[in-house]
Amino acid sequence: MFLQVCGAAREVTGSCYVIEVGATRFLVDCGMHQGGGKEERQNFARFPFDPKKLDFVLLTHAHIDHSGRLPRLVKEGYTGPIYATPPTCDLAEIMLLDSAYIQESEAEWRARKARRAGRREAAPLYDQDDARRTIGQLKPVAYGSPRTLTPEVTVVFHDAGHILGSAFLELRLEHQGEKIKVLFSGDVGQPDQPIVRDPVIIEQTDYLVMESTYGDRRHVRNGEPIDGLAAILEDAKRTGGNVIIPAFAVGRTQELIYFLRQIMDERGLEMPVYVDSPLASRATEVFRRHKEVFDEEAWEIVREPGGIFNYPMLHYTGSADESRALNEKRGIVIISASGMAEAGRIRHHLKHNLWRPEAHIVIVGFQAQHTLGRRLLEGEKRVRIFGEEIAVKAHVHEITGLSAHADQAQLLDWASHFEPPRLTILTHGELNAALTLEKLLEEQLGFTVVVPEKNEVIDL
Ligand code: ZN
Repeated sequence: MFLQVCGAAREVTGSCYVIEVGATRFLVDCGMHQGGGKEERQNFARFPFDPKKLDFVLLTHAHIDHSGRLPRLVKEGYTGPIYATPPTCDLAEIMLLDSAYIQESEAEWRARKARRAGRREAAPLYDQDDARRTIGQLKPVAYGSPRTLTPEVTVVFHDAGHILGSAFLELRLEHQGEKIKVLFSGDVGQPDQPIVRDPVIIEQTDYLVMESTYGDRRHVRNGEPIDGLAAILEDAKRTGGNVIIPAFAVGRTQELIYFLRQIMDERGLEMPVYVDSPLASRATEVFRRHKEVFDEEAWEIVREPGGIFNYPMLHYTGSADESRALNEKRGIVIISASGMAEAGRIRHHLKHNLWRPEAHIVIVGFQAQHTLGRRLLEGEKRVRIFGEEIAVKAHVHEITGLSAHADQAQLLDWASHFEPPRLTILTHGELNAALTLEKLLEEQLGFTVVVPEKNEVIDL
């Protein structure tokens, strides 16, 4: 029995593992490498295994860095099942189609450049047909019910509390009379996140494959996120300014919808809220269909009239015309993607509001270096959007504490419930994050830990 780490080794994206147990060979996750040219070129590299020879694929959750190369796998000949929880299957459907559309547009842009330079045109990583075939191969498996996939492999999905449908995978492997357990953490959620449940506590495994995204960091909190948001809304209400929130379409947008409703209910404050992102609207539809995985608190609201993602002040915009019509409105909240303001409709809203002194821009997620979101946070006074110079006169706020990932202390706390596994394999973190967490797991919990390199093979 062995495991090969084919991605997310000393990096945070591209999750992909091959496991071989006797005659069974399968994959856990098949994620996209993200974060710029060099990383993204790896997506086009050959898989270090033959996709046609896999028996099945297991998917921890729908985020693109875990699921985004599945259509590539299918394009290269994989025709078998892809098992995931029911919400993950539904979210993967919309996210993979969206990703395929982006792949096609980028390939078209590269092709135009190549034609002008007299170079050969490269095909997209995959197209919408590949994504549709992949979606047809998704097979839902409910949380907590063991599923025997071959005589050698049984899997149980446990709630990871990261995004809707996210899972830890408990693998029970059996070969030549030997039985072992391998636990894949996927991404570990932050306890007390709205809507999703807290990560399940697990106490025993022989091998633990664990993420380390925040292995060297703790989340800083500048008060309760909901209080910060309420104060901004109150000010905007008084002055007639708009509140513009760039947010990831899946997860963060639904949390914001939830918080805004709570603010309006508890403080009697009314302001129209517009969700202006077609992907976010589709993702919210998936959330509505999967109330069965909500936490207690969300359930209380589900029982109220209208439900959790519908309230009189909340509107979903569809067409580009509806989106443009928002330019004329004042005293409204707009939630739009992308989360780092690098693409999408949010850029139009920033263009129309950044120069207004009464407007508020609210940053609620991680902003990578050089992105528009990051530059606003750093206090730039002039930015270019669609080739036009825009003065930044709006108030720019940062609300911290909204993260789908457990931080260092929360990762350690989650790991502390295990009796020390035979081996802990740290992945899905930059080298420093992984090494810092390795040291803490060894010193505080007595774990034996490795931080593997890409394509390293580990005997089980
Ligand atoms: Zn994730």
